[in-house]
Amino acid sequence: MSIKQNLLDIKSSIPEHITLVAVSKTKPVSDLMEAYNAGHRIFGENKIQEMVEKHQQMPKDIHWHMIGHVQRNKVKYMAEFVSLIHGVDSLKLLKEINKQALKHDRIINCLLQIKIAEEDSKFGMSAEDASTLLSSKEFLELNNVSIKGLMGMSTFTANMTQVEREFKFLKTTFDKLQTDYNQLVTISMGMSGDYKLAIECGSTMIRVGSNIFGARHYQ
Ligand SMILES: *Cc1c(COP(=O)(O)O)cnc(C)c1O
Repeated sequence: MSIKQNLLDIKSSIPEHITLVAVSKTKPVSDLMEAYNAGHRIFGENKIQEMVEKHQQMPKDIHWHMIGHVQRNKVKYMAEFVSLIHGVDSLKLLKEINKQALKHDRIINCLLQIKIAEEDSKFGMSAEDASTLLSSKEFLELNNVSIKGLMGMSTFTANMTQVEREFKFLKTTFDKLQTDYNQLVTISMGMSGDYKLAIECGSTMIRVGSNIFGARHYQ
């Protein structure tokens, strides 16, 4: 199966309002170009250095999404071009993103990462943390970042009942926050194995890698 065919199959199987982020981490530029030439423009990477290198080599109308954990000292490398940062999990990180965005005279769109996984819970904020952040005076002074919504990573498990519960928790958290912060529009949840379930649970943005590019081989 070709990358182009995989993309077409996924796009035809999801509602039109769902944004598909093609997760291209570890894949060579030639694979990304195959997706590009099939008309795809939104790519997700989880390492800043890798995203910077691919950005340099590829056409400039691509929207680059940072979907991985972000180290504050590396924000500066992507600040000029990144179009959405999914994994914002602290005010401290947001301040650094704001500072770097200001240097480039732009506003960087971000999602707050909420900890939804009942198990493997490494990163992310609680719903309360997110609410506190959005209402803080310090946040209101950050004019070069814009919070567009929430992102969540479910537990890595074959137990779909659990994954569904975690997705529903993110949707509920989004709905509660959205009543006070109506700039929130995006719910980033769902990957290759569970994006259909995620969409049923209210996802508006799915991050799909292996179903498009094939399995990843880490060395
Ligand atoms: C790798 C990754 C994905 C895509 O995973 P697949 O199972 O290959 O679709 C989605 N989201 C994040 C945050 C990732 O790191």
